[in-house]
Amino acid sequence: MAKELICTNCGYIGHPKKVTKGSFFMEVILWFLFIVPGIIYSIWRLTTRYNACPFCGASNMVPLDSPMGKKLAAEIQSSSASTSEA
Ligand SMILES: [Zn+2]
Repeated sequence: MAKELICTNCGYIGHPKKVTKGSFFMEVILWFLFIVPGIIYSIWRLTTRYNACPFCGASNMVPLDSPMGKKLAAEIQSSSASTSEA
């Protein structure tokens, strides 16, 4: 099971979703028409795969147990505590 991450953009805590650039359809077309570009395209898609925030789509999620993650989590908890009292 992957570690939980926190999004530095919106503060979402949880597991990121894997985002792969390009399209599967394009990959299939390239494989059928020209083998070599198909291989290159597949490698490019695999290497550009990244962890994205499922909430806002940002790619800048950090581990929750990192110094930055702890700082953000503390800020979110203090801000949510103050707003719930209002
Ligand atoms: Zn986010």
